[in-house]
Amino acid sequence: MEGDFSCDHQNPEVHVCGGNGPYENTLAVLSRFDLAPLKGKQVLLKPNIGRVAASGAGITTEALVVAGAADAFTEAGATVAIGESPITGVAIKEAFDVSGIERIAQERSIRLIDLDARPFVKVAVHGGRVIDSLKVCPEVLEYDIVVSMPVMKMHMHTGVTLAVKNMKGCLWRRSKVKFHMLPQVKGSEEKSINVAISDMSGVLRPDFSIIDGTTGMEGMGPGSGSPKPLGVVVAGFDPFAADAVSCRIMGTRAENVPHLRIGAERGYGIIDIEKIAVYPQDWRKYISPFIPPPEKLEFEFPNITVLDENSCSACQSTLLLFLKQQKEKIFDYFPDIEELTIAIGKGNKEVPAGTLCIGNCTAAHKEKGIFVQGCPPVGSEIMNVLKFGITDHPSPLCAKK
Ligand code: SF4
Repeated sequence: MEGDFSCDHQNPEVHVCGGNGPYENTLAVLSRFDLAPLKGKQVLLKPNIGRVAASGAGITTEALVVAGAADAFTEAGATVAIGESPITGVAIKEAFDVSGIERIAQERSIRLIDLDARPFVKVAVHGGRVIDSLKVCPEVLEYDIVVSMPVMKMHMHTGVTLAVKNMKGCLWRRSKVKFHMLPQVKGSEEKSINVAISDMSGVLRPDFSIIDGTTGMEGMGPGSGSPKPLGVVVAGFDPFAADAVSCRIMGTRAENVPHLRIGAERGYGIIDIEKIAVYPQDWRKYISPFIPPPEKLEFEFPNITVLDENSCSACQSTLLLFLKQQKEKIFDYFPDIEELTIAIGKGNKEVPAGTLCIGNCTAAHKEKGIFVQGCPPVGSEIMNVLKFGITDHPSPLCAKK
């Protein structure tokens, strides 16, 4: 990632625009930057289209924000493309279509890129604490300018997911999942995933960030929370600074978000709000605190104990959605019990007899109870197992990649 489209790294600027529609807010925020150096450049927009969801649900980046960025950069003389590598089990074509990004791209004859289509490029992470290399989607290294375009979300594992964390969607196929499978760092209380994201942020640094706060997600993000309409767009060169301002708007602080704090301590960006030039001066009027993610899943489902040890957000999202939809009916399948134990994640050393073990990470306990395979598992597969006891046929998701 190179180019003279950059900023003062010690005193980064971040701009916030609100009060109009997503397209207009995006054009307005980008008008605060000198886009002239983009003339003749190849620009890759990397929105968060990791899941299949329509714009407005707070799950994927609003299509009109992507449209605004595409138009502003094209107007500046750049050639724009849009790319994503979604979470495991998501078909990118469907995700582009449902999000509205496909239509945006077609209308503008912009290239849409399945970042998983070509072989990965191995990139060394010098000085990484928990990872020493990454499998990176090749376009991310080939384009002159990469723009991180997340949607403003709370995240059950990482606190928030914004411009820095959104770059995890530039990791090739299932290599993303490995961030959730790392052993605990000896002598550290930090979750390994947060250390891994900070390792990644020293290598996969976007050249520019546009954070979509049109409709964010509060609570059980990144996939199972509630939409949070906000109507703002945040932009800046330093992804840490843009994230820090977004954190304030969301009612939290980057210092409380481990991957941002660790990355900033290592010198990858600025999160000290006093060192960031934020415009307009009255940007704090956009602050609207988001409900934080719950500490434990079982708080939401009192008759169900969830043994969640080192699971991924993909597994958690599947389970949360399933429980939200089925919590009244699930005990129909367990008529003799009043309390149900469900296990997800690779870290469960023991589980009680009769546990509903969900996801391939719990396969070691399959003899103890009921096992639902998949990585991630899907809600329909859980229901199939509960209804019909189908446990042995291969999951189409497992076979996909
Ligand atoms: S089974 Fe679930 S927790 Fe395990 S790697 Fe797959 S998605 Fe993650």
